[in-house]
Amino acid sequence: MKKIWENTKSYNEFIQKSSNMKYFYQNLFIYLSLLLLMSCNNQKKEGNQSSEKQKTSTVVSVPSFSADSAYLYIKEQVDFEVRVPNTLGHTRCANYLEKKLKSFGAVTIVQKASVTAFDGTELNIKNIIGIFNPNAKTRVLLFAHWDTRPWADNDPKSSNHRKAILGANDGASGVGVLLEIARQIGIKSTNVGVDIIFFDAEDYGASSSLHPSVNSQDTWCLGSQYWARNKHKAGYHAKYGILLDMVGAKNATFYREQFSESFAKHIVDKIWIEAESLGFAKYFINEPSSWITDDHYYVNDIAGIPSVDIIQYKKGSETGFFEHWHTLDDTMKHIDKKTLNAVGTTILNMIYKEKD
Ligand SMILES: [Zn+2]
Repeated sequence: MKKIWENTKSYNEFIQKSSNMKYFYQNLFIYLSLLLLMSCNNQKKEGNQSSEKQKTSTVVSVPSFSADSAYLYIKEQVDFEVRVPNTLGHTRCANYLEKKLKSFGAVTIVQKASVTAFDGTELNIKNIIGIFNPNAKTRVLLFAHWDTRPWADNDPKSSNHRKAILGANDGASGVGVLLEIARQIGIKSTNVGVDIIFFDAEDYGASSSLHPSVNSQDTWCLGSQYWARNKHKAGYHAKYGILLDMVGAKNATFYREQFSESFAKHIVDKIWIEAESLGFAKYFINEPSSWITDDHYYVNDIAGIPSVDIIQYKKGSETGFFEHWHTLDDTMKHIDKKTLNAVGTTILNMIYKEKD
């Protein structure tokens, strides 16, 4: 992906939307719930003092993230070649992802649907879901898109603009990191429930260069839009969500994306503080980036789960994204294990420190 909202008109539309009554009532509800929770906690406090002491003194042991495994999982996806909906590589990769999640002990659900793309194509999509610790009430949602873009419309050669990309970074990297996290959870479970969703058809959106007459951000992220309206479990909710997108390039920098900041500032804070404490401040830059339409937007806006996008952003570059974004050169040679390690280790620390 994705579209960066550079003009203030789009930004203003969003702000206006955020301030409407729906959000007012949502915020009021959250505020009242918090008040209630605080008063309950105060009542409990005295009796629980000794157990609280015990809790705070417990050192959480967080497993080590293996960047080698994540790298291999990225390569295995890229080996299927392009993963555009309705292609053979897409079908094969879907089977691989489901099998992998199952092998790590997840309960899996493959959510199949047919959605219509902006150009009229019917896309057979699959959102692939892995559920860990299904009975835990407190849940964290981790997600990434697994499809690849059918058009290399940012390639330096215009003759390549209608060819599909391999998407080593744009697609496979986030999924690879999450597969390694799934493997770790399979070995040592977390206190909270963890749901991993690989969303489909994120990257089938209309671009200004190839499809100038289409101008809608909703042409992107079709899998997450579908899931947000048809969750895999009725009434599903997670405490928060984290999206990984383009998390594999060498010396990648992740800034505080602005939709994430608007919907889930407390989670952005938590991630960036965690990353810094682990020594990854050179990757996780504690500064704002831009407004980026990505799967987290719909998980926030439609599903109402406060979600953060960890996405490479390059300040001062022409597109804002990594150099090989939406080009035929988005291949394994640009995937760097140090970056995978920074992202994977940060997420593992986040989820293993969560209490049910
Ligand atoms: Zn993309």
